[in-house]
Amino acid sequence: MSDPRDKVSQGLGLDALHDAVLPTYARADITVVRGDGCRVWDYEGGEYLDFVAGIAVVGLGHCAPAPLAAAREQLERLWHASNLYWTEPMLRLASLLADRFEGGRSFFCNSGAEANEAALKIARKATGRTRIVALEGGFHGRTLGSLSATGQPAKWEGFGPLVPGVSFAKPNDVESLEAALAPAGDTALVLLEPILGEGGVIPLEREFAQATAERAREIGALLCVDEVQAGMGRTGTFFAFEQLGIEPDLVTLAKGLANGLPMGALLAGERAAPGFVPGDHGSTFGGNPVVAAAACATVESIDDELLRHVRERGEQLASGLGGLPGVQDVRGRGLLLGATLDRPVGPVVDAARAQGLLVLSAGSDVLRLTPPLVVSADEVDQALGILEAVLA
Ligand code: PLP
Repeated sequence: MSDPRDKVSQGLGLDALHDAVLPTYARADITVVRGDGCRVWDYEGGEYLDFVAGIAVVGLGHCAPAPLAAAREQLERLWHASNLYWTEPMLRLASLLADRFEGGRSFFCNSGAEANEAALKIARKATGRTRIVALEGGFHGRTLGSLSATGQPAKWEGFGPLVPGVSFAKPNDVESLEAALAPAGDTALVLLEPILGEGGVIPLEREFAQATAERAREIGALLCVDEVQAGMGRTGTFFAFEQLGIEPDLVTLAKGLANGLPMGALLAGERAAPGFVPGDHGSTFGGNPVVAAAACATVESIDDELLRHVRERGEQLASGLGGLPGVQDVRGRGLLLGATLDRPVGPVVDAARAQGLLVLSAGSDVLRLTPPLVVSADEVDQALGILEAVLA
């Protein structure tokens, strides 16, 4: 069989290889080859200011020194041992996360969807119940369980039957939550994002989050906060739920956890943790030592100073966005921001990229910005300047 890389060296270029990839994504036509801090470069040498950060992943910036050094050192020592044994980076990471989510015990996996799958399973085992309540517009992943709890019917099309027993409530609507919880006695898990990221950057209100947490506790259901997109300092606190005044039983993390190496985690508090015993769940690569070493360095880097920086840069970006032509409203917290536009967002994303700025959409008219947490005031101004030119 011919080596596809030969085609590149024969001058056919990477475009000739696109058909070798299943088209699950509508990718922009650039091939990213290098990253440094808040910038990436494409195959042709084009430079971009990166306000996508791998979709809220590369919090410390591309090739950030601390996780890079930790992963590199671990690569020289041990790549993989399996979960039949303990490894030091995995244990250190579990302990660092237990410091952040007091007393929480970790299960490690490779992605956000897997972390949410683990949440669904542990909730069933811990409560002996089956029903799940989630939010309309919420997003929890693409595996069948996490997809079933994703409140976006367009994403279900063609993949049924889904996991049964999932009800959806409208975000920030307590009555709708009550309706979704009936019959209350059979609900195992209430699963929610503190800010619905993919669903349009919709922050949960404190009152709604607190009423939900209280109700879940009353009826004996577990509460899981999906911090896959909003966690790891992105909203200006380590977990976004800290700003909502709630104490979840379960937290899921992924994206920013290892600054771009693939890792997910389920953190379980005391009401949920007894749900799993040996043999109940697993993952060959979960807690891999190289990835866990990078995650330890990442978690350790998210200190009070960085969190203050996130809040300050977030305020700068939000107030700048609010003054741009065609921006109708700005939502979100810290550096997870969405701006509703008076026009379709797709062409705006394309035009910004053509001018050297990578940005995201969320739905048809929301511009989503998730830059690295280390973004500088100058870089925020540069991004706002490009967006102003694109929207004018
Ligand atoms: N949960 C949330 C809130 C997300 O934003 C995402 C991905 O965008 C996921 C879960 C799924 O994560 P992954 O793509 O790593 O499976």
